[in-house]
Amino acid sequence: MQSLTSNEVAGLAVGALLLGATIAAPKVDAIIAASQRRSLGMCRKCGDLKNVACGRCKGTGTIKSGGFFGFSDSSNTRSVACDNCQAKGCFPCPECSKS
Ligand SMILES: [Zn+2]
Ligand SMILES: [Zn+2]
Repeated sequence: MQSLTSNEVAGLAVGALLLGATIAAPKVDAIIAASQRRSLGMCRKCGDLKNVACGRCKGTGTIKSGGFFGFSDSSNTRSVACDNCQAKGCFPCPECSKS
């Protein structure tokens, strides 16, 4: 049985560091993105787009309807205007509209 050489120990340490960095990367990315936006004076919520996508229609402005309760024309689905966002697909950003 041989003890580990210093090179092997260093290799293990680097491997562990890389593994940790890989796991932490998305989190670090998000933190950096948020702080970058803030330092650039951009809105953290919408990135200065002034709008946030509607969660109900996923930003399309229309939702699939028809046959939802099974009493009307359940063989057809049709797109109707999203009543959550008035078919705009997005809302004014609450962070930006504060000012
Ligand atoms: Zn909508
Ligand atoms: Zn905003």
